[in-house]
Amino acid sequence: MAAALLGRRGWSRVRAGRACRVGERSYAAISGALERAVSAFRAVTGDEGVSLGVAIREQHGRDESVHRCRPPDVVVFPRSAEEVSALAKICHHHRLPIIPFGTGTGLEGGVGAVKGGVCFSLRNMDRILDLHPEDFDVTVEPGVTRKALNSYLRDTGLWFPVDPGADASLCGMAATSASGTNAVRYGTMRENVLNLEVVLADGTVIHTAGKGRRPRKTSAGYNLTNLFVGSEGTLGVLTKATLRLYGIPEAVVSAVCAFPTVQAAVDSTVEVLQAGIPVARIEFLDDVMIDACNRYSGLSYPVAPTLFLEFHGSERSLEEQVAVTEDVTRGNGGADFAWARDAGSRTRLWQARHDAWYAALALRPGCKAYATDVCVPLSRLPQIVVETKEDLARNGLTGPIAGHVGDGNFHCLMVLDPDDPDEVQRVHEFTERLARRALSLGGTCTGEHGVGLGKRALLREELGPLAIEVMQGLKATLDPKNLMNPGKVL
Ligand SMILES: Cc1cc2nc3c(=O)[nH]c(=O)nc-3n(C[C@H](O)[C@H](O)[C@H](O)COP(=O)(O)OP(=O)(O)OC[C@H]3O[C@@H](n4cnc5c(N)ncnc54)[C@H](O)[C@@H]3O)c2cc1C
Repeated sequence: MAAALLGRRGWSRVRAGRACRVGERSYAAISGALERAVSAFRAVTGDEGVSLGVAIREQHGRDESVHRCRPPDVVVFPRSAEEVSALAKICHHHRLPIIPFGTGTGLEGGVGAVKGGVCFSLRNMDRILDLHPEDFDVTVEPGVTRKALNSYLRDTGLWFPVDPGADASLCGMAATSASGTNAVRYGTMRENVLNLEVVLADGTVIHTAGKGRRPRKTSAGYNLTNLFVGSEGTLGVLTKATLRLYGIPEAVVSAVCAFPTVQAAVDSTVEVLQAGIPVARIEFLDDVMIDACNRYSGLSYPVAPTLFLEFHGSERSLEEQVAVTEDVTRGNGGADFAWARDAGSRTRLWQARHDAWYAALALRPGCKAYATDVCVPLSRLPQIVVETKEDLARNGLTGPIAGHVGDGNFHCLMVLDPDDPDEVQRVHEFTERLARRALSLGGTCTGEHGVGLGKRALLREELGPLAIEVMQGLKATLDPKNLMNPGKVL
């Protein structure tokens, strides 16, 4: 989406190396309403909970995407849902936009204050509130990150499996409907959030599944929880999430397997799943990506289309899973498995996979990266990956592919020189073609990163005008003044 989304001015700021100009909305120029609001914010949070400093505002005006920095007018740091509610009431009264901020690892420009306003940084709300090991659930505040939760859980025998490559906040993950390498077995945030506490634009606090409730399943009314999962801060501020937990598996084995062609690797993925193997992770890296990972992480895997796999279960069930998977991969010309049985080798392997973004960037120092995020039905995966590789080659673009192929979701990590307008244009056209290719195969333009700023037009094409109208109606009901993260999603 790069160029068209950012506009030329956007790229000029990208060129300046993530720096951004705040001058247009400097504190000296803030309106009387904002000044009155800032005094009221201070009464809620104390002076230390409000920042007008340029550096803090810039830090909160951008995420990890190529979208240019759009700093808010002010950043507030609430410590409780009550404070979030009181601050939201002030914003509502003064008609100031509210932009929730988790850890800023988003890839779609979701935290940019495109209409100015107040960033609600939730980092000080980082308590793990309510752990019920016997019920496999936990309730957390919005600033708790996935790694912090798993460190906390380590001695309980439980874990939370949703694992985007970055150490994101759990409510940021709920807000973007995030997933990661474990989704093929454990699901995405959509399947793993049981209840949410949400502060609406006018300060009202609601609980999407009822206050204090945490049933494993429910048929009670509309699914409000999943309305807010994936809402990207446009419907309310998530101030608590109740999450499903899982037992840490008795045994874990990881493996790496190289294939002669992309088709063979993707065909193996489909056959493993069709055989009913409960594979925990099955990740595809094309030859360009594995080469980048070898260089960046000091590995020496064959430079060929590759699957990284992981199996969870009892020792006996693992033997079976592994045997069937080996049969399938051998039948598709896969080379011998490289096994990683001890925790150290497994961690090195998966760290390399999680570092794929940085490995791609290291291919062309000084360049920027943009990750595409299409997702298609499994049976269409071989076709779209093969066609996409041909498209990249035809257009002379660097776009190593890493994919959560077990879900039909893959990313081209486009590495581009933002100072080269011709390349920027070619990347933009490529990303649009790729998204439309996914739509024509019955897929989506975004499997896990969200819509943010750049995919709004594609969302319309994907859902059609009537579904968009229903979404606009829901938004207008919950946020009639359009204060929640305006300019995103719709
Ligand atoms: C190296 C790297 C690898 C990544 N890999 C993956 C991956 O494998 N899978 C994946 O899904 N994503 C991935 N991501 C993207 C990112 O980590 C996820 O989108 C993550 O869910 C964002 O969480 P955050 O806390 O950083 O949110 P932010 O970036 O702070 O915010 C993202 C959006 O959510 C909203 N938001 C944040 N917190 C709240 C809240 N409490 N209430 C309401 N709205 C809120 C914001 O307004 C914004 O619209 C990756 C990112 C990087 C940099």
